[in-house]
Amino acid sequence: MLYLGIDLGGTNIAAAAVDGDGAIVSRAALPTPRGVEPVAAAMAQAAREAAAAAGVPLPDIAAVGVGVPGTVDPERGIIHYWSNLDFRDVPIARLLGDRLGRSVWIENDANAAALGEYAAGAGRGSASLVAVTLGTGVGGGAVLGGKLYTGFNYAGLEIGHMVISRGGRPCTCGRLGCFEAYCSATALISRTKEVMGLAEADGRTAFDAARAGDPAARTVVEEYIACLGSGLTSLVNIFQPEVLCLGGGVANQGEALLAPLRAILDREDYARDQERRTRLVHAALGNDAGIIGAALLSRFR
Ligand SMILES: [Zn+2]
Repeated sequence: MLYLGIDLGGTNIAAAAVDGDGAIVSRAALPTPRGVEPVAAAMAQAAREAAAAAGVPLPDIAAVGVGVPGTVDPERGIIHYWSNLDFRDVPIARLLGDRLGRSVWIENDANAAALGEYAAGAGRGSASLVAVTLGTGVGGGAVLGGKLYTGFNYAGLEIGHMVISRGGRPCTCGRLGCFEAYCSATALISRTKEVMGLAEADGRTAFDAARAGDPAARTVVEEYIACLGSGLTSLVNIFQPEVLCLGGGVANQGEALLAPLRAILDREDYARDQERRTRLVHAALGNDAGIIGAALLSRFR
């Protein structure tokens, strides 16, 4: 049995046929057009191409799911707001479902990525997983007791907007001191430029220079890890997930990032003395987590 996942992004629409274990069987991708109807048409085309590439007629696909950015009502299949394409109250599930002649599941893309990691990646076989993505912002998702947990109005798990420093750095959401204002790749890069006195930097600059012995870079990395450890420890204390997985570009630092974070958890996790502890691991599926999670949405609701 094959499932079809679609990842709606601001630049590309990607579709993939996925087997019951979450392995990708075929792919298709198209550039994202502007406007609601063209987007729905391109999503339908990508879905047909991915099904054809897998050699399975669309009616034989078990379920179709879409990971969409922005605020989403999965119950009604609506994107409430997506700033990138200025979508407001777009009934995307119906627009795509009409074109494909079948019903379509939708979910916020960060939640779909968490589901992908739970079903087929870092959390495979676990009872619960919290996924944290370090990108432009800090995204998150949680699968608890085998179900995606998103809050009663589907807007929960905005972990990037948990305050880790009261009265601290301003955040795009209007609060001060949010997790994301310290731990997104954006925050890391701006701090790297500021402390190292650079005009240009990326998410690797400070880590690379710290390894080469640069003291300013070391300050940036130590501060970044301390802030990340603070937020992650709070997440472990609240959720006690069996697996906590870190994804996004910054997480590609791997053990250079994970080892000091585990040391913070060993010191500060409230349940640190218990035999069974949350496992902090690197996300396993990279950019495919969202599309795999989208494909399998129907199985986890
Ligand atoms: Zn915020």
